[in-house]
Amino acid sequence: LVRSFSVEPAFEPSHMELPPRVKLLIGGSFLDSKAEEWIDVINPATQDVVSKVPLTTAQEFETAVQAAKQAYPKWRDTPVTARQRIMLKFQELIRRDMDKLAQNVTMEQGKTLADARGDVFRGLEVVEHACNMSTLQMGEFVENVSTGIDTYSIRQPLGVCAGICPFNFPAMIPLWMFPIAVTCGNTFILKPSEKDPGASILLAELAAEAGLPPGVLNIVHGTHDVVNLICDHPDIKAVSFVGSDVAGSHIYSRAASTGKRVQCNMGAKNHAVVMPDAEADLTANGLVGAAFGAAGQRCMAISTAVFVGDTRTWEEHLVERAKRLKVTAGTEPQADVGPVISKQAKDRICNLVQSGVESGARLVLDGRDVQVPGYSKGNFIGPTILSDVTPDMECYKQEIFGPVLLCMKAGSLSEAIEIVNKNRYGNGTAIFTTSGVAARAFQHDVDVGQVGINVPIPVPLPFFSFTGWRGSFAGDMNFYGKAGVQFFTQIKTVTAQWKSSSSQGLTTVMPTSQ
Ligand code: NAD
Repeated sequence: LVRSFSVEPAFEPSHMELPPRVKLLIGGSFLDSKAEEWIDVINPATQDVVSKVPLTTAQEFETAVQAAKQAYPKWRDTPVTARQRIMLKFQELIRRDMDKLAQNVTMEQGKTLADARGDVFRGLEVVEHACNMSTLQMGEFVENVSTGIDTYSIRQPLGVCAGICPFNFPAMIPLWMFPIAVTCGNTFILKPSEKDPGASILLAELAAEAGLPPGVLNIVHGTHDVVNLICDHPDIKAVSFVGSDVAGSHIYSRAASTGKRVQCNMGAKNHAVVMPDAEADLTANGLVGAAFGAAGQRCMAISTAVFVGDTRTWEEHLVERAKRLKVTAGTEPQADVGPVISKQAKDRICNLVQSGVESGARLVLDGRDVQVPGYSKGNFIGPTILSDVTPDMECYKQEIFGPVLLCMKAGSLSEAIEIVNKNRYGNGTAIFTTSGVAARAFQHDVDVGQVGINVPIPVPLPFFSFTGWRGSFAGDMNFYGKAGVQFFTQIKTVTAQWKSSSSQGLTTVMPTSQ
């Protein structure tokens, strides 16, 4: 069954069957997959099955790649101004449908509606940035590198590129990827998270409405198998990945071994260093918001606070504020903390908290048994704070990815920096202080790629790039910003000679500047 998505919505139940089956997007049409295996997309607050997502077959995947390959020559030759204008319209349509997108994110991912709007908005900003591609994609020109000879560079697209997404930002992360890739002139295969594919489909509908031609953006679904097909396919030139370390390191080596460009944003353990002179309200509010917002399921969540000097007073500030947060379904108007993504995630998080307790950490706030009226089946965990945590504990070594804040102690700023730098991750970090001297030393010495100074979640806006370091990133060209454009383009350098007559005779000598 083939349907044009400009006519009928991609979620409409086929054959009046419920729950709806999520479509593939191939060559401009939403298609029913012929897959034998389907995964339930589950609302984490209720356990209702929202939709079913197919494990795309190898044949369907091949058709998607061929559609992208076929669309490439014409799209590559479409003027950059025309490509930008589609993005300009696309951002307008995302704004128009912001609430619809946010509702889908909350239903499938669980985060609060206000936070889901933030998810869409931070992606929208990347689309806005892509509207300036003509400037971003500019090459360079040097006149007269030798007499009458000029050299210039051109940034050309790569061809078919692919993106593999995690569950935690179902709108923002697809928007980190395909708007930059396609505005550079590439065509794209998007593989949303199998846990919440809905926002990608809605975004693809909007991109088509904005005028993105058929085949420029294609969507396939599934898990390991389709990811491996992406890594191995000879017609795919670049792979963007965001997700866990396990998947990221596998994808990095497998895709790179077939000659692809790869960028992998992976896990994190983000520390906030709190100096004794830090402003109390700003710091405590910042820590609690960044630790428990989105139920801790942000790669830039603050998951560890390192207190220089006294910890007890800070603990009191944190507990008092964390207790005020309302844990409930993201659709409830007062919600501050929604559910975590799955029952398995909840069990894993609770086990890590328990292992912390058993290895000597002090549980100053325990949200594991939180009761949420009206949502007894939801995967809820209330804000949880473990103190006296040490680097050898399992809860510290692993990324918890839940609403859990670990508290540690350091005797001095340099000791705190040493703790941060010894951790294998280098995604984000923050210092809270009123001392410019301490902030400057921290900024200079910390071995982490994104630093906040009195800013708890320093996710750079799209005119910069998302610059995780060490265990949090594999590759050398980051997401969005200038680096994002570099990732999705390759440089062609042209050396040209135009002379009315040539006095140059035949020579076998290596040319040098004359
Ligand atoms: P995940 O790695 O489980 O899944 C990400 C994607 O990879 C999915 O599309 C999934 O289908 C696929 N996948 C999973 N395991 C695979 C495997 N073994 N082989 C091939 N493909 C596989 O990640 P998740 O649970 O969806 O997302 C949470 C993780 O993402 C956290 O670790 C978080 O820190 C990280 N994350 C990082 C950033 C960042 O920018 N650094 C941003 C968001 C999320």
